[in-house]
Amino acid sequence: MTLKSTAKFGIRMVSTQRVTIIGAGAGGLAAAIDLARQGVAVTVLEQAAAPGGKIRVDKAGIDSGPTVLTMRWVFESLFADAGTTLDSHLTLRRAELLARHAWSETERLDLFADPARTADAIAAFAGPKEAAGFNAFRIRAQRIFHTLDGPFMRAQKPSALSLTVATGIGRMRRIAPFSTLWHALGEHFRDQRLRQLFGRYATYSGSSPFECPATLMLIAHVELEGVWLLDGGMIRLARAMADVATGLGAVVRVNAPVAEITAHRGKASGVVLANGERIESDAVICNADVAALACGALGRATKGAVAVPKREARSLSAVTWGITAPTGGFPLTRHNVFFSRDYKAEFDAIFRDGRVPDEPTTYICAQDRGGEDRGGQDGPAETTGPERLLVLINAPPNGDRHVASPSEIEQWTTRTFSLLTRCGLTVHRRPELTTVTTPTHFAHLFPATGGALYGQAVHGSMAAFHRPGSRSALPNLYLAGGSVHPGPGVPMAVLSGRLAAQSALKDLTSR
Ligand SMILES: Cc1cc2nc3c(=O)[nH]c(=O)nc-3n(C[C@H](O)[C@H](O)[C@H](O)COP(=O)(O)OP(=O)(O)OC[C@H]3O[C@@H](n4cnc5c(N)ncnc54)[C@H](O)[C@@H]3O)c2cc1C
Repeated sequence: MTLKSTAKFGIRMVSTQRVTIIGAGAGGLAAAIDLARQGVAVTVLEQAAAPGGKIRVDKAGIDSGPTVLTMRWVFESLFADAGTTLDSHLTLRRAELLARHAWSETERLDLFADPARTADAIAAFAGPKEAAGFNAFRIRAQRIFHTLDGPFMRAQKPSALSLTVATGIGRMRRIAPFSTLWHALGEHFRDQRLRQLFGRYATYSGSSPFECPATLMLIAHVELEGVWLLDGGMIRLARAMADVATGLGAVVRVNAPVAEITAHRGKASGVVLANGERIESDAVICNADVAALACGALGRATKGAVAVPKREARSLSAVTWGITAPTGGFPLTRHNVFFSRDYKAEFDAIFRDGRVPDEPTTYICAQDRGGEDRGGQDGPAETTGPERLLVLINAPPNGDRHVASPSEIEQWTTRTFSLLTRCGLTVHRRPELTTVTTPTHFAHLFPATGGALYGQAVHGSMAAFHRPGSRSALPNLYLAGGSVHPGPGVPMAVLSGRLAAQSALKDLTSR
């Protein structure tokens, strides 16, 4: 390798190695940045019309994938290592008010960036004992996060044993892998509403709080550490990552579906696009869900490259409504959650019965609202003009087996918006200004998943160790994305992309 300077981002190494990346999701783009800055000739092939993967906007410009941006430091370090800064590409503000939660017209609770204010709000909502419970929970979640940050999240495919060796048995016990999140929350909260609120963080990894290990309370810590509001929406993050990658010399091609990963002498050797174009490469990184590799959707050569993910272990899917409409009766903030009355019944419906719950807990991202703290209000309770909303409920990942009929979708809509009405919110929606996305749509967007949005659910104490690492069983084929270690969520997918780039680079340089 030789050193060469580039106009945009300073010194980098130049090599003749070529890496093809399938998919321009967060993981694929992060891998592209890390490899391109090392001088590798990177080509990213994305089947959709724009980079971002699950980070996407609908035709009305509504962010229709991730909306909650956390772990800012992950993006800062990706951009800094590439010789640039996050701030020079994006305008980020810390949300003072993290989220507003409602159980009825009279039961509301806000969580704040300032933990003391959150404790006060919990005391006013459910009494001082619950506030003390929150303080203890917060510290416990923080400890779990710090225990796992280095030896699990940033490590290449840790096993239970390697993690125990790295952290020590005492610390391993601290991460509570053998208790469910729901059970552990009972040690901190007697109020079932608070158990529900903090249990909901399990769904960020597509899992049920009744089945995932208590370890997942670290997600609560991540959110309590800071939620960031991005000017222009989350799609800007995907565009900025694509810009950095191309600024470093990577080629990002959209409308470029890959039909097959080719192999030569037992090693991945390139790809064939759906139009027949062949691209030879020294390594391939797959950012599609690993289920696509396992089921042979990317050709026979890669079929044994990963263990076949179990269909019954798929994570949550979703039904979303992208809506432009005036709202009334409820002072929405940026992030809002409206809870069902029976949380257990919801997860039983999804994971046991494979159906959308009768009364689904509903998340609303009010994208034009600021997340500022205005003493319990955040913008007016009534709006005269339309505003952009993403309304989301969890759903079973069976979009490949069940195509919902229009009347079924209407039923889901009625159930969801009735719950919002019960909590005081009216959305004056019009069908022509509403885009509904079902598990079947998600299954089409993300092949072989059935619409599961977060890889495999983290159900049971060992599930997190079952995700594949960045190296597949086929030499020269690497894996990145939410279905791979360390797991789903935009920052985690970025970490996985960086781990894939690290593995590919190590193997390429050692050859
Ligand atoms: C509705 C929703 C809400 C979410 N909310 C949040 C949130 O608030 N905060 C958060 O951090 N995370 C959230 N997530 C999760 C987060 O979006 C994902 O974990 C993360 O973006 C996944 O990134 P990835 O690297 O796995 O790539 P993906 O986003 O899965 O992208 C993979 C890409 O590969 C492409 N691809 C697949 N097969 C091929 C092929 N054969 N040829 C070419 N291209 C191909 C796909 O088109 C896609 O663009 C949410 C997800 C969804 C769907």
